[in-house]
Amino acid sequence: ANWHSTHLWSPYQQDLQSHQHRQLMLVAEMSKAIRNHDFHFEIQPKVVLSTGQITSGEVLLRWNHATLGKVSPADFIPLAEHVGLIYQLTQLILHQVLSWMQQHANQLHGTTLAINISARDLLQQNFATGVIELCKGYGISPSSIVLEITETSVVSDSGLAVDNAALLRSAGFSLSIDDFGAGYSSMQNIHRLRPDEIKIDRLFVSDLDSNPTNQTLCRSLIQLSLDLHIHTTAEGIETEEQLKLLSSWGCHSGQGYFFHRPMSPEEYLSLL
Ligand code: C2E
Ligand code: CA
Ligand code: CA
Ligand code: CA
Repeated sequence: ANWHSTHLWSPYQQDLQSHQHRQLMLVAEMSKAIRNHDFHFEIQPKVVLSTGQITSGEVLLRWNHATLGKVSPADFIPLAEHVGLIYQLTQLILHQVLSWMQQHANQLHGTTLAINISARDLLQQNFATGVIELCKGYGISPSSIVLEITETSVVSDSGLAVDNAALLRSAGFSLSIDDFGAGYSSMQNIHRLRPDEIKIDRLFVSDLDSNPTNQTLCRSLIQLSLDLHIHTTAEGIETEEQLKLLSSWGCHSGQGYFFHRPMSPEEYLSLL
């Protein structure tokens, strides 16, 4: 037997070692996949709660690895952020989505597409000017793009992030704060990023029917954004009860399995 499989290693240490091993392997595979453009995307409709009308679609990254199978973005995005691969990944998804929009411009009927970017992207010196140039290159109007930024302390602490956000906003992009309320310094992010939209995290929506605390939280978040004239989208709506509660409090739009699951881009176009 080799030395590290003996009793000198506790199960915890073995777990830790195999976890680190898997992470290292994922990083190597991710680099390869970025080079080979092995990622694709799905789209999940955003709808008006009162009518079900689709106004936008959120682009969700998908990675189907030859031997590992489907790897969830909830696993590989944080890792990509951690090891600095996120910048290349964001550029790749931007190219893919903009090129797709260019090909299907006449089928999008004035709807917008929402693209997730990492808060870390905003810390890149030329991020905003790069995205603006990219859109020009593909002939896509920034007004047809929403950039969803997951709330983190990274953003609220950095002048560079605020500058990039301001530049993007003045070029015509809509900015959305993702997972609002789940992260840090929510109020500061509103103040500094001046978003057009906040997205209420699924965490608060999922047990809305039975959890009075989350009811109060959602109601207050919606009221706050109404007062500030910021659009609210609720994530992860799965039941009619959740839909009814959110609508009654004035939430304008939502996403979730109750309406539509994430789907192929072709399927999405056929719904519009
Ligand atoms: P997110 O931006 O909060 O996206 C919503 C997630 O909730 C998606 O998971 C979506 O499939 C899932 N979802 C939507 N409706 C429901 C529902 O009714 N019930 C449940 N249980 N889940 C629902 P997904 O696709 O696995 O993405 C996970 C996260 O990975 C995203 O969370 C986002 O933070 C990140 N992500 C995905 N694509 C990208 C990307 O292109 N760039 C970056 N930077 N992050 C991405
Ligand atoms: Ca999102
Ligand atoms: Ca998110
Ligand atoms: Ca979320």
